[in-house]
Amino acid sequence: MKQKHSDISYSGSNKPEDILEWAFDKFGQNVAMSCSFEAPILVHMAVAVNPDVRIFSIDTGRLPEETYQCAQEVEDKYGINIEWFFPKHEAIESLERDKGVFSFKKSVHARKECCGIRKVEPLSRALDGLNAWITSLRKGQSRSRNGISKIEYDETHGSIIKINPLADWTQEDVWQYMKKNKIPYNRLLDRGYMSIGCSCCTKAVEYGGTQRSGRWWWEQTEHKECGLHVNYSI
Ligand code: SF4
Repeated sequence: MKQKHSDISYSGSNKPEDILEWAFDKFGQNVAMSCSFEAPILVHMAVAVNPDVRIFSIDTGRLPEETYQCAQEVEDKYGINIEWFFPKHEAIESLERDKGVFSFKKSVHARKECCGIRKVEPLSRALDGLNAWITSLRKGQSRSRNGISKIEYDETHGSIIKINPLADWTQEDVWQYMKKNKIPYNRLLDRGYMSIGCSCCTKAVEYGGTQRSGRWWWEQTEHKECGLHVNYSI
């Protein structure tokens, strides 16, 4: 049964590990963590708190090889099984037959249609039945993420709770923690990538670029999101 908004309160510390411990105590098996295998430091923290943590990821069918390599290294290191979710093949077949394999480059609308099929729909199935999910979102990743909170409502996914333990961490914090704890990471980060999604929509950030400027670089808008993350703070 899903928690009501009024049932949620957190008064602990800002440490990600404490927030994770609260989440596992509060939601039990009805909380899961999403992971995109970029810099999976939350997996490292979560497994230490709860070895049975559920971790899922969306395989859009167009992920870079380095992302799969990172996922395999994480499974091997932590002894976990990732719950993979895939797009519905009928929807992709229809999209590519009708509009081509590069339809997403034609307009923002067309790009969001592709993200909707390959990411948003599988995510809705991943979250189905959960009371809460945990993400690695950080305020510094983009202007559109600047207003996120560590714990917030996710109205776009049935008003479940969205937990962002790293909301206040900087890119440098993540990097230092990752190196110190020898956490497997996506090797594209060593090649100038700062945000990693599908291979055809991601490139290394050019000098002076923002963290997400390597995503959908042909679009002009600064609010480049795939539709997975729209939230309301508690
Ligand atoms: Fe499609 Fe690109 Fe979105 Fe991936 S990132 S789902 S290829 S538009």
